[in-house]
Amino acid sequence: MDIRSLIREVPDFPKPGISFKDITTLLRDAKGFEYTIALLAEKCEHLAPDFIAGMESRGFIFGAALAPKMNAGFIPVRKPGKLPAAVHAIDYELEYGSDRLEVHQDAVYPPGAKVLMVDDLIATGGTAGATAQLIQQAGGTLVGCAFVIELVDLKGRAKLPDVPIITLVEYLGD
Ligand code: AMP
Repeated sequence: MDIRSLIREVPDFPKPGISFKDITTLLRDAKGFEYTIALLAEKCEHLAPDFIAGMESRGFIFGAALAPKMNAGFIPVRKPGKLPAAVHAIDYELEYGSDRLEVHQDAVYPPGAKVLMVDDLIATGGTAGATAQLIQQAGGTLVGCAFVIELVDLKGRAKLPDVPIITLVEYLGD
C-alpha cells in the first residue's frame, strides 16, 4: 500500500511557502490507517518498548493506536496546563518564539522503562528533540523515535539523541 498517496499536501498552510502534510486523508482511509499502524509496529518491534510517548496532538492519534498493538502503555506528552498531576516541563525554540511541553512526573513506571517516541511528522526536530529530553527527565530510557513523515531537508534528525529513527514516508523540501 502506498501511504504517500493518502497524504494530502496543502500549499501555503498555515502560512505562505509551507506545504502542509495533511494526514486526515490517511486517517479517514480505514485500510490505510490500519496499514500505517501495522507497518510502524513491524519496524519498531525490535525496540520492544514498554511505553509509547506521543506528542499532542497528532502524536496521540498514531501513538495511541500503536501502543496496544505493541503491548505497550501510552504516555501523553501535552501542551502546558493540561496534565493534572505533578509534571516535568521543557521549553523549546520554534521558528518564531518558543513553546512548552509537559509530561507527568510518574509517567514512566518503573523508572528506566523503555520508551518509543511517536509523532506524525518530523520537520526541524525541535518538538521531537524536546520530547526526548522530557522522556529522559521522567526517568525513561528512550529506545527509538518513529514518525510517519520526515521532511528530510530540514535535518530534524540532528536534534535527536543517538537512537534508532524510523520513518515511513520521506519528502524533500518543506
Ligand atoms: P518540528 O518541531 O519543526 O519538527 O515540527 C514538528 C511538528 O510540527 C509536528 O508535530 C508536525 O505535526 C508539525 N509540522 C511541521 N511542519 C509541518 C508540515 N509541513 N506539515 C504538517 N505538519 C507539520
